[in-house]
Amino acid sequence: MSQALIEVRDLWKVYELGDVRVEALRGVSLDIAKGELVAVMGASGSGKSTFMNLIGCLDRPTRGIYRLEGTDVSTLSSDARATIRNQQIGFVFQSFNLIARTTAVENVELPLFYGDIPIGDQRRRALQALAAVGLGGRESHLPSQLSGGQQQRVAIARALVNQPSMLLADEPTGNLDSRTSSEIMELFRQLNVQQGITIVLVTHEPDIAEWARRVITFRDGEVMTDVAQKGRQ
Ligand code: ADP
Ligand code: MG
Repeated sequence: MSQALIEVRDLWKVYELGDVRVEALRGVSLDIAKGELVAVMGASGSGKSTFMNLIGCLDRPTRGIYRLEGTDVSTLSSDARATIRNQQIGFVFQSFNLIARTTAVENVELPLFYGDIPIGDQRRRALQALAAVGLGGRESHLPSQLSGGQQQRVAIARALVNQPSMLLADEPTGNLDSRTSSEIMELFRQLNVQQGITIVLVTHEPDIAEWARRVITFRDGEVMTDVAQKGRQ
């Protein structure tokens, strides 16, 4: 039995804005094992991003337990959460979030500045990460000189450069055409199968969710269904 990377127990997130109270997550409990490739689905407003922010240590639950590799991270300070984020979690966003007027390799190097990687190794690590996503030869290109799919590959290389134990991606193909989306999903699948990296991705597109071995669907802040997809590996 594989070890749980993520253990979530009765997780709640309640936003209070003046008189308005929004229960964005209402008692979510689930485990995600190391090496899984999971798609998170659900209508807009169902709590997907809130869930990703919590498991990505970007935010704290109102109540409930979240253990990451056995450590209860739900009560950590924001500094401690920042350290965990930098070391263990890679983030990929719909809008790529690259820094303009900064080359591909410099974008990928950014997360290394906050760690203790010797300067001399930073460039080498960033170049390796770019090669791993199929962008060897594009190191000196600016984001504006790259296609959308290539920009998302740079963002994925940046997410991988600290060798995190998991990648969290919120609508990573939301700005891409269907062919490019398939290429990005093929890259995620390769990273998952060949390097064993755990991937959790939000999508509202059923054909993107098809790439996952497990699909968790939220509704109104709760897990509505959680199903393994047969024939996927
Ligand atoms: P999804 O990603 O599935 O579209 P979200 O997790 O973004 O859903 O939002 C879930 C619910 O929580 C929605 O009703 C949304 O309006 C609310 N919400 C999300 N973030 C905040 C916030 N920072 N403050 C107040 N309400 C929020
Ligand atoms: Mg969202």
